Amino acid sequence: MIYFDHNATTPIDDRVLDTMLPYLKTFYGNASSLYRPGRIVRSAIDTAREQVAALVGVQPAQIVFTSGGTEANNLALATLVSKSRFAISAIEHPSITEQALHLKSRGHDLAIINVDANGVIIQEAIDKVIQYKPKLVSIMLANNETGVVQKLSQYTRQLRENGSIVHTDAVQGLGKIPVAFNELGVHLMSLSSHKIYGPKGSGALVFEKSVKINPVFLGGGQEQELRAGTENAAAIIGFGKAAELAQAELAQRSEYLLTLRKVLEEGLLTIPGLTIFSHHGDRLPNTVQFGLPETDGEMLVMKLDQKGFAVSSGSACASGGKEPSSVLTAMGVDPNYAKSAIRVSLGKANTEAEVIKFINQLKLLVCQG
Ligand code: PLP
Repeated sequence: MIYFDHNATTPIDDRVLDTMLPYLKTFYGNASSLYRPGRIVRSAIDTAREQVAALVGVQPAQIVFTSGGTEANNLALATLVSKSRFAISAIEHPSITEQALHLKSRGHDLAIINVDANGVIIQEAIDKVIQYKPKLVSIMLANNETGVVQKLSQYTRQLRENGSIVHTDAVQGLGKIPVAFNELGVHLMSLSSHKIYGPKGSGALVFEKSVKINPVFLGGGQEQELRAGTENAAAIIGFGKAAELAQAELAQRSEYLLTLRKVLEEGLLTIPGLTIFSHHGDRLPNTVQFGLPETDGEMLVMKLDQKGFAVSSGSACASGGKEPSSVLTAMGVDPNYAKSAIRVSLGKANTEAEVIKFINQLKLLVCQG
């Protein structure tokens, strides 16, 4: 199987697995225990906190480990306590949109920040939302479907001066482009381990100390009293190692992915009628989403699966549903055409030969109808 779905998840890096294994077999102590086996685990979690903090340029104390990006996003929105106005972009992941709709149903006032035809938030949309005086604004850094990267730092100062807490879901940007918390100018940022060759079930919310986090899980005092529950030590330690590797290899990985993406796009554009969504926007180096006329995207995914290729027909969480992608719909793509969407998300172990094989197979399938 040729795996081209790295925005859904990535295979665990062997070096990450090797770092985790002792904490699954030998060092099983509870990090909160005072005796030595507990302290060994605590110390390894501290190292992981330093590694994740270093990747995004913050102090270790600004990291709260969570069970993943979904929990981090939920924790970020939980900073809204009293009924308030808040805003999210029109292209957020379901872990933001579903929580936002839930808050709305509880009496909070929700505004949506629109995107243009390339999936990019424009200044006018920010100017408009500012008039609404939102207490919190959540704008993702990079989109999981189109790969579009927002020019977030251009807007954060304006939003902050307007009194908003600014959150970004940086799950897809991490490990593919530089993600510097302070340069982005946000108050809160969500991360996930399994998108950067780390284990599933681990992530983090990065926070500026001035923001009061309201824990979602109450219980023991783990994670600086901000997220109770015995730490998933091996997964946290794996996340830390994955972060260390991502930092060391970022430039090399993204340069390589961009080379592959160019080969992929050149091949795709030789297929008559094919459109690359957000083609001219600033995108992640590994992501290409395209549409084909008169095509059912899910059917094509199944046919490609039979031929040995794993791609997605949109975001992993939305696939299986019959609704067109909400991201493409927000960009004004015709709903029928949006249903033809296929997302290819490349990874560090993919090769040019695999990309060429994919193009050839796709051409055969498209011509056969
Ligand atoms: N945010 C984005 C943009 C994502 O793509 C995903 C996963 O697909 C998540 C959040 C959720 O992260 P996790 O799977 O770690 O809960």
